[in-house]
Formats: sequence, structure tokens, C-alpha cells
Amino acid sequence: MMSAIRRYFAALLLAAIFLSPAFAQGDPSSLRVATRVLPPLVVEEKGALTGFSIDLWNSIAERLKVKTEYQTAPDVRALLDAVRTGKADLGIAAISITAARDREFDFSQPMMNAGLQILVRGKGASAESNPLRDLLNLLFSPVILVWLGIALLLILIPAHLVWLLERGRPDGIIPSRNYFPGIFYALYWAASTLATQADQMPRQWLARVLAVLWMFTAVVFVAFYTAQLAATLTVQQIQGGIDGPEDLPGKQVATTKGSTAAEYLRQLNAEVLEFSSIADAFQALLDKRADAVVFDAPVLLYFASHDGKGKAQVVGAVFRKEDYGIVFRPGSPLRKRVDGALLALREDGSYQRLYEKWFGGK
Ligand code: GLU
Repeated sequence: MMSAIRRYFAALLLAAIFLSPAFAQGDPSSLRVATRVLPPLVVEEKGALTGFSIDLWNSIAERLKVKTEYQTAPDVRALLDAVRTGKADLGIAAISITAARDREFDFSQPMMNAGLQILVRGKGASAESNPLRDLLNLLFSPVILVWLGIALLLILIPAHLVWLLERGRPDGIIPSRNYFPGIFYALYWAASTLATQADQMPRQWLARVLAVLWMFTAVVFVAFYTAQLAATLTVQQIQGGIDGPEDLPGKQVATTKGSTAAEYLRQLNAEVLEFSSIADAFQALLDKRADAVVFDAPVLLYFASHDGKGKAQVVGAVFRKEDYGIVFRPGSPLRKRVDGALLALREDGSYQRLYEKWFGGK
């Protein structure tokens, strides 16, 4: 009887410990911060986290005299989920403050200005169009090969007909009766007529009828060919460059899952390729699986001047301004304290020092 009561109390005590808020939250003086790797805001270096957002949070935590337990999420959606479900007390990375998110969460004061911009391969769209390369591309394009095939047929058929009718006539255009070299004269005649440059005409009457028909065919052929050439060149030039968001509809554009950029691109009718990691989006661009990356300007500029130097470049201005904020569950008592620390860091110059450290003072 006694031992049953003791066991009952022991169980009660254990339940009280496990269910207590202190246990559920770990160390109460430590905050669980959700983040995600996104250089230069959050950089993973030999297993440790650094970057502008991490340095900024560490300075805030120092002021608030709290410890931090970081947890990393694969994408921004998972990061917000961690805050929503209470797995984390707050989130910081490159989280844009949007109207939709503001309805669901509380945000700190803006911690940094950002916005969407475009990254393309190489030295940019304008340098990519090179007249000599355009011409070579055109000459070896499949369209032109088809036309060359047609031209070859159009030469071979009348050449053989004229050779049959005209061969061996002393005053005709084919001096020899034999296939060789007679056919060469006939081929030369057919080719020069196709190019509307005939310098001789057959003597035999049926061959003359054929020649006249053939001249008209050649005129039509040249007209079609010229039109096709012009159209192909124009299309090549139009497809050449991406300079701004107006060039994005219909293009393959890489970005990250659940980002504001993905949302924007879908509204624009671009073909959106969404990756968890921004590094994979950059790789898709370099491997030509994507025509452009649309993402947060600070992240694109950092890539273009570091790992992507000489391989990718930012084009056009920031076309949609956004601010980054620290995200909390609605009504979180932390927000006011974090805002106070953030403002104090701006006022004492620490914010500026961190900004210059990661963004070179730009
Ligand atoms: N600024 C972007 C957003 O908040 C970042 C997305 C991401 O972390 O991939 O949607």
C-alpha cells in the first residue's frame, strides 16, 4: 500500500518536471532562434553560423543578456513554420516583411533594406549579343540547314532535266554528251539561276520552257529565304537579353522555395524553378538550366562578387523594395525588447560596423 502511494507521487513529480514550461523550453534564459543559411546574411563556416543576421542577433542577445540556441530550417517556409508552431521563439535570416506574413506574425522594426533583383550568366545581357556570333549562330541554325537542303534539291532536279534535254548541242550550254563533265555545266547553270544570276540560257525549246519556270521558282525561293533569315535573326536578338522583369515572362527563372521572389515570378508567368538552397538556384543558372535567378539583391550581389565572380552578374535595378525583419509569434513579449536592442545598436554605431563588415559599406 505504502509503496503504491510512493510510486504514485514519484510519477506525479516526474510528470510535473517533464510538463513544466522550463523543461519544455530548455534553459529559460536561452532563446531558440530559427534561421537558414543564406550568405552573406547567414553563413555556415566549419559547422558554425556567422553572417550579418547572425552577428546582429548575437549583438541583440548580448544586450538582452540571453543565450541563443540556433536551429536551421531548409527554407523560409519551414523557418516560419518553426516560429508558428512554437518550435522556435523567433526567426531571423533574410525574412521579408510582407502584408500576408504580417497578418500571421509579429515583426521587429525593419533590420535591413533589401528587394528583388535579377542575376544572369556571364557579363550581362548587352555584352552577350555579339554580331559575329549572332551571324555564325544563324548560319549554323537548324532552320538554315533545312533551307540548304531544299536549295540542293532545287538545283539537282532542274540540272538533270536540262542536262538530258540540252546535252551535246554545239550551241547549247552543255558542250559534252557524257554525264561527266556535262552535269557540272548543268549544275552550275541551275545554281546560278537559283541565285537569280543566270548568265546563259538553254537553246532546246523544252529546256527553255523549263528554264523560264525555273527562274520564277528561284525568285519565290529567294524571297522566302530572305524572309526566313530576317525572322530568325530577329527572334535571336529578342531572345538575347534579360534586362528587367519585363523580360521574364516565359523564361526559366530559379529562386528559393516559399520566397517572395517565387510568388512574384508566378504572378509574372515566368517558369519558376524553386530550390531549397539558393546555392542550387545559382548552380541551375550556371548550368544553363535556368535563364536567370530572381532573388534578394544583397544575396545576389554577394554571389556575383564572390563565388559567382566572372560567371554571373546582376542586371537592372532593384524592382521591388522589401525590408527584412525578425519574426515572432503574434503577441510575443519578446518583440518590444528586441526592438529596443535593435534601435540601441543603430544609435551606438554597432549596426553600422556590422553592415560595413558584411556589405563593404555600400
Ligand atoms: N527574402 C526572402 C523571403 O522572405 C528570402 C527567402 C529565403 O529565405 O529563401 O521570402
